[in-house]
Amino acid sequence: MFAAMSERSAPEPATDFIRERIRADLQSGKVRQVVTRFPPEPNGYLHIGHAKAITLSFSIAQEFGGRCHLRMDDTNPEAEDQEFVDAIMADVRWLGFQWDAMFYAADYFGQLYEWAERLVEKGLAYVDDQDAETISKTRGTLTAPGTDSPFRSRSPQQNLALLRGMRDGEFADGTKVLRAKIDMAHANLNLRDPVMYRIRRMPHQRTGDKWCIYPMYDWAHGQSDSIEGITHSLCTLEFEHHRPLYDWFCDALGIYKPQQIEFARLNVEYMLTSKRKLLQLVEGGHVDGWDDPRMPTLRGLRRRGYPPQALVAFCKHVGIAKVNGTHEIGLLEFFVRDHLNKSAARRMAVLDPLKLVIENWPGGPGGDHVELVEAQNNPEDPAAGSRQVPFRGELWIEREDFLEQPPKDFFRLAPGREVRLRYGFFVKCTGVDKDAAGNVVAVRCTYDPATRGGNAPDGRKVKATIHWVACRDAVTATVRLYEHLFTDPDPARADGGDFLALLNPHSRRETQARCEPSLAAAAPGTHYQFERLAYFYVDHRDSRPGAPVFHRTVALKDAYKKARS
Ligand code: ATP
Ligand code: MG
Repeated sequence: MFAAMSERSAPEPATDFIRERIRADLQSGKVRQVVTRFPPEPNGYLHIGHAKAITLSFSIAQEFGGRCHLRMDDTNPEAEDQEFVDAIMADVRWLGFQWDAMFYAADYFGQLYEWAERLVEKGLAYVDDQDAETISKTRGTLTAPGTDSPFRSRSPQQNLALLRGMRDGEFADGTKVLRAKIDMAHANLNLRDPVMYRIRRMPHQRTGDKWCIYPMYDWAHGQSDSIEGITHSLCTLEFEHHRPLYDWFCDALGIYKPQQIEFARLNVEYMLTSKRKLLQLVEGGHVDGWDDPRMPTLRGLRRRGYPPQALVAFCKHVGIAKVNGTHEIGLLEFFVRDHLNKSAARRMAVLDPLKLVIENWPGGPGGDHVELVEAQNNPEDPAAGSRQVPFRGELWIEREDFLEQPPKDFFRLAPGREVRLRYGFFVKCTGVDKDAAGNVVAVRCTYDPATRGGNAPDGRKVKATIHWVACRDAVTATVRLYEHLFTDPDPARADGGDFLALLNPHSRRETQARCEPSLAAAAPGTHYQFERLAYFYVDHRDSRPGAPVFHRTVALKDAYKKARS
């Protein structure tokens, strides 16, 4: 499966139940131009789940020559904020999508209110004086019908006067609601006289103090879709049972009725996709904000170094389903690696340094003699060219690349063993220096000058190539290494606040790496592959000129692929 994926140069046109439906609607003439929308509530930052909804609605519009709207579903002023509106716009653009028009549900408050009066006049809505608790109690259950409110039989005239009073601020918060008059015994609980408006004195970031009644989701969403001429309103499965109500409102008003189609939510192992829980992580100080590189928010993934193209490719690959499921994080990482492999420049850096001393270096190991060796910038991209890296008699190598007593299957450096130093020379280990406690503090070697560039003229082979950085030229840089934020692949399984108990205490580790000199100038926002280690991303926030901070985006090793083959 993955071999096929890396060769996917000409992807087949995507097809699935939504696209088939749309094709049929276009063919039958029911729809002339496809119009979709992405309708986030500006009460938090977008996360990886939203990336799927965004990719779906925007790419469907693109594929069918249609339009896609960005609509702020800002009907609930309590948790909403302009900060989130701005962030959502920036994040959608970052993913590479541009909306054809932007709207705010709050701009429809006037139209919605007029429509509410129309339903009241038709006897299809009434004002109820029961409190929220009573309304919820009298709703019945899946097996028992609900009970009619004692206020259900108010006349349209009475209801109209009361609704106007609600709008005009004559009643206290929570003392009255407007409900649709449908059927308190309906098999679908959402149709048991759902609440349309509640009284809430709270300024709205867009409409200020103009309104003290705010529409509920079901009363605003379908109507907003209708006003905008949305043809296919794509939403997640939990809204399936709301579709009859969506349709009921449009039919009762006699307005244009878009087609709502539901698809499965995206879930990824070790990641939470609930804004409420993500907020808890931020507010509880468990992460360093919404853009912490361990967060599944688009801001977090971006800061971690996930390329937007990889997220979109992942979302397209997982496609859409009718059943909620969870994707392996290795699959997401596959797409990140796949993209970075082609685009990230290679560099050498040592995370856990051990000194290597070349005894036969001209002028002595600590001397001034330097050889500039040629290193390729990206073997996947010849156009990326090469650079010169200084090689000297004292080098840093990775501690784990040396073992004094190597087991059978260890082919890297060991006493008496010869290996290649990438782009440099063959070196052969002659011994070690130890401190008083017996720890190896340096590895002694000789080098073979005839192997410059990495090959022996006599054709002799080595079994390993390791990376290195010349001690005298090394630049020290902060490197942040990440593991999963949770110890359990399904942190959402814990209800309530229990997911906090599943936080991985080792999800972030910081270390000082010795880097080749060119990395001193690493610009924020650049991706690198540190050879043999991982992909790294230069942080925007904490990097300083000459002192970059690197986030480990994803390791090179493809555990996923291995497990599969
Ligand atoms: P939360 O429950 O975390 O607050 P939400 O679904 O209420 O998320 P919205 O801002 O209302 O957040 O979501 C905007 C759109 O994104 C909706 O159409 C919603 O269905 C979709 N969406 C949200 N989460 C996911 C997900 N995990 N997978 C796919 N689509 C999602
Ligand atoms: Mg929502």
